[in-house]
Amino acid sequence: MKKIAVFPGSFDPVTIGHHNIVERAASLFDKVIVAIGNNSDKKSLFTIEQRLLFLQQSFATIENVVIDSYEGLTVDYCKKTDAKYILRGLRNSTDFEFEKNIAQMNQALLADVETVFIICPPSLTAINSSIVRDIYKNGGNIQQFMPPGVKI
Ligand code: ADP
Repeated sequence: MKKIAVFPGSFDPVTIGHHNIVERAASLFDKVIVAIGNNSDKKSLFTIEQRLLFLQQSFATIENVVIDSYEGLTVDYCKKTDAKYILRGLRNSTDFEFEKNIAQMNQALLADVETVFIICPPSLTAINSSIVRDIYKNGGNIQQFMPPGVKI
C-alpha cells in the first residue's frame, strides 16, 4: 500500500520553512499532499487561488508532491485521499504544545491516521507565515522567505 501523507495548513503564504519540511517528507512517503485547509472563519491575506499558485510554484520540481485544498475536517480529507499520515512541522516547544493537542484530537477522531512531526533546522525556526504577512503588509520584501520559484 502506498504511504500517503497530508500536510495541512493555511500556507498564507508558503515559506522556506514549509518547503524544508515537505522536501524532507517527500523522501519518506510515496506521496505528499500539501493541502490548504480552507477555513472560512479564518481571514487570510492571500486568496486561496494565490496560495495554491505559490504552492504549485514552490513544489513544481518535487515529483511526488501534490497541491490541493479542502474544506472541513483534516481527518475527513485524509479518508477521502487514503492518507494514513498527517504531516506537521515543528519549530520549537510552543509549536509542540499546540500540535500535540491537535494530533491527539485527530487520533481520537480517526485512530488509523498517524501524525508525523518533522523538526526544522535551527536556521528556519524564526520563519513564520504571520510575520511574513506583517512584513508584506508594511511594504517589506518577503522574497527571501519564500521558496525559490515563487513569484510574489
Ligand atoms: P496552520 O495555520 O495550520 O498553523 P501554517 O501554514 O502556519 O498552518 O503551518 C503549517 C505547518 O507548517 C504547521 O505544522 C507549522 O508548525 C509548520 N511550519 C510553519 N513554519 C515552519 C517552519 N519555519 N519550520 C517548520 N515548520 C513550520
